[in-house]
Amino acid sequence: GMPSAPAPVLAPRRASRKIRVGSVAVGGDAPISVQSMTTTPTTDVNATLQQIAELTAAGCDIVRVACPSQDDADALPAIARKSQIPVIADIHFQPKYVYAAIDAGCAAVRVNPGNIRKFDDQVKQIARAAQDAGVSLRIGVNAGSLDKRLLEKYGKPTAEALVESAVWEAGLFEEHDFHDFKISVKHNDPVVMVRAYQLLAERGDWPLHLGVTEAGPAFQGTVKSATAFGALLSQGIGDTIRVSLSAPPVEEVKVGTQILQSLNLRPRKLEIVSCPSCGRAQVDVYTLADEVTAGLEGMTVPLRVAVMGCVVNGPGEAREADLGVASGNGKGQIFVKGEVIKTVPEKDIVETLIEEAMRIAEEMGES
Ligand code: SF4
Repeated sequence: GMPSAPAPVLAPRRASRKIRVGSVAVGGDAPISVQSMTTTPTTDVNATLQQIAELTAAGCDIVRVACPSQDDADALPAIARKSQIPVIADIHFQPKYVYAAIDAGCAAVRVNPGNIRKFDDQVKQIARAAQDAGVSLRIGVNAGSLDKRLLEKYGKPTAEALVESAVWEAGLFEEHDFHDFKISVKHNDPVVMVRAYQLLAERGDWPLHLGVTEAGPAFQGTVKSATAFGALLSQGIGDTIRVSLSAPPVEEVKVGTQILQSLNLRPRKLEIVSCPSCGRAQVDVYTLADEVTAGLEGMTVPLRVAVMGCVVNGPGEAREADLGVASGNGKGQIFVKGEVIKTVPEKDIVETLIEEAMRIAEEMGES
């Protein structure tokens, strides 16, 4: 008989309800969005808007800003008005800032029930204010600030404890007929985090905001986040993502975007296919790959550029790419769409690749 088709790598997307974070839809069939958070003092409106502009340019869809004081709350209207992307206010401890953020024109508010005292008593009023303003919420449960009742019950922030907290808070909002919220259940351990989201995904159709919290410095945080998000997204779980790094937020956006592109959940843009180099390499592949990457940063068309150290796999990969170089003997053979268009001395490889890339990108419609 006919061989059966191979199973798709990604499970179908979990059916979640769709909410709006300002101009960006989250959940349902909406594209999975990338979020980050500003690191500037929110009171410094200009610096915050400057950082938001940088995040927007890097591909960030939604940005969150901290609001720990009245001065921060006072800065929110100007930030919400001038930001190019929807702004979410991040509120802990003080419910009064939830209302301030709603009044300020923020697209959404993140609330952490574990950190808002007597939160349950506030739910009705928060739901009403958000509903009236067309503002959505995130119920952001975090291992580091789990509701005391659940910490006592479970002894530590287990996946089950995070989920019980989230489902409890979701139920309170739903009792007041408020449904415009997404949920996160973050933990710094990717295994616990993945388990928590798997459990949560079965409990309701809420859109889910994925995050490994306090994931660490750039290298560890990138790997932890990619591993956990990859596991969940491949099961169809996750509607918006935030990579948390102890590194500038633009790096978070780059990593988040790359994770989605790697899973074909977002159109690929520039892709560098470069070899790891080995004892056969006749050029410095690391430097070559870094220089080509730097020279082509910000490219918005799906260009594949192969940077190969020698002729073993070099010509093959270079031919499969839109553009590539296979090096050897102090020279680089430059390939475009599978044809060698020229051979240049090693010192001219980077410049030639960048020139050719720009030319091809223009043909592909790069603005
Ligand atoms: Fe080694 Fe050549 Fe393969 Fe690069 S392309 S890893 S240099 S064999």
